[in-house]
Amino acid sequence: MNVKCRSCDSKPTDKFKPLEEVKDLGTRISSGEEVPAGECLKCGALVHDYDDYERLSRASGVLQRDYEEDVDGMVEMITDEIKAGEITDQDDLYQRMHEAVDGAQRIIYTHEAKLALVYSKNDEAYAEEFGGEMPNYSQLAFAAFHRDIQERLDPTMCEDCDKAFASKEYDADDLCEDCYESRVEDAKEEEEGRSTTVKVEE
Ligand SMILES: [Zn+2]
Ligand SMILES: [Zn+2]
Repeated sequence: MNVKCRSCDSKPTDKFKPLEEVKDLGTRISSGEEVPAGECLKCGALVHDYDDYERLSRASGVLQRDYEEDVDGMVEMITDEIKAGEITDQDDLYQRMHEAVDGAQRIIYTHEAKLALVYSKNDEAYAEEFGGEMPNYSQLAFAAFHRDIQERLDPTMCEDCDKAFASKEYDADDLCEDCYESRVEDAKEEEEGRSTTVKVEE
């Protein structure tokens, strides 16, 4: 068996002090923790089966990517809805995100919710936002997943009112539906004004 010391970051090696010779093992690992293979000969830290470790980190990488894809998928969906003019301001966004996150498999299923808490960088979001008594995994994951999406979401604001999200473009300016309409209206009036002037001059 090969081991790798995470403490002194040694290369994988088959030389280590076997578990039977490790002293005070009971006080050095807590329940639920991975059982070590033995002790590092260099620094004395507990070392683990390297192949096991490799397999676990590969599996963990897959689960991490899976979670990131869920967050990115939500960000993309909401960004598309903003661009389409279906979500126009912060209130809309709040409501839509709440609804989308609430219906996400990632939140509904307990095992997926647990994984969300493992892979989210915002696993403390629930306590920070709501405090209070210990919620269930789905509630914890809701807050974490919600915040992960929020952090990646970067909607373009309307350049005219700076309050609504932009879903239209006018003269290379990003505008909300309302401001777009009034620019079109203004342009039309100016156009009409000009043609009236021309008529007057004749
Ligand atoms: Zn070591
Ligand atoms: Zn606007």
